[in-house]
Amino acid sequence: MPKKPPVKRRPGRPAGAKTAHRAHVVELRAQCPACHSTRRTRFFHAATIEHGGQILVPEGPANPPAIRPYTHVEKKRATCADCGQALAITLYLYKPRPEDLGLDEAAAPPHE
Ligand SMILES: [Zn+2]
Repeated sequence: MPKKPPVKRRPGRPAGAKTAHRAHVVELRAQCPACHSTRRTRFFHAATIEHGGQILVPEGPANPPAIRPYTHVEKKRATCADCGQALAITLYLYKPRPEDLGLDEAAAPPHE
């Protein structure tokens, strides 16, 4: 059986593809307070509740201090993979509703 000829591909984006503006965002993974490791076991006992509010995010290496709104709180547990410290991790999530974004409800995708 003859060998297939290699598929010729042009490098780069397809013709006509738009250049997307990407906002630079930084996400810092939760750190173990005992050894500062970000490695952990799988999460367990995860639960999310719908609870809105605002949280003060302290100044970090990539951000000034800021007050951030949130709509959901996710709590989960894990264990530090390096020192074995038991961790209770809380995530504050912002899942905006269409009206929060100033969008027409009929045109927007349904809220989770
Ligand atoms: Zn640790």
